Amino acid sequence: MIFLYAAIYVAVVVQISNLCTTIYLHRYMSHHALKLHPSVAMAMQFWLWLHTAIDPREWVAVHRKHHQFPDEHGDPHSPKLEGLWKVLLTNAYLYRKEAANPETVARYTRDIRTNRVEDFMHRQGYLGLFLGVLAAGVLLGPIAGIASFLIQAVVYVFLNGMINGACHAVGYKNFHNTATNLRWVAWITAGEGLHNNHHHAPSSPKLSLRLSEIDPAWPVIRLLEWLKLCKVRPRLTRMPSS
Ligand SMILES: [Zn+2]
Ligand SMILES: [Zn+2]
Repeated sequence: MIFLYAAIYVAVVVQISNLCTTIYLHRYMSHHALKLHPSVAMAMQFWLWLHTAIDPREWVAVHRKHHQFPDEHGDPHSPKLEGLWKVLLTNAYLYRKEAANPETVARYTRDIRTNRVEDFMHRQGYLGLFLGVLAAGVLLGPIAGIASFLIQAVVYVFLNGMINGACHAVGYKNFHNTATNLRWVAWITAGEGLHNNHHHAPSSPKLSLRLSEIDPAWPVIRLLEWLKLCKVRPRLTRMPSS
């Protein structure tokens, strides 16, 4: 029974982390495609602190640099420059290498201001992870909790590698750019697998365009909007004539 609970824990944690990544880090912080109520932004940041220890300024900087140089010299994680398998398997290393460059962070996050709570959280990344492990241990017991926490971290990193690697290497295109769409990746990454659509219109809050494309984060964004916890920019709704 513990294996079932552990599998449910991993699936739920990874999907919530994916939603926080795409809605908070990506669509809100990086591209201003939507505006989140501060309470939602803080809750999502707190969740990511517990489960990934990501510093939002670093994530935004690395991602914006990727958009400036997609698959060109300067792209932090291009499968065309680094090779697909390297991006798939060492995504965390490639991310950390760029995130550790203070020039990148300063240059690409001039618009981002942090408060004292956020500064504390990101100076104390290991405390967040410790609390995340502790919560998993309370839910599942110490051994299963630690193992499940590690598995969710590996799955989360690998799925991000799928977006950065596979979604610049295989799949179909609606638009002329170096990224690709993979529908099945979109299902398990809260819509991020529709990466060709995203590179075409980075400030669109919705990543799906065709009826066959599913962006699981979009109904969550609409729900937040209905609850007056989010405001979205006019979205890209029409396919261009090709
Ligand atoms: Zn990309
Ligand atoms: Zn982006």
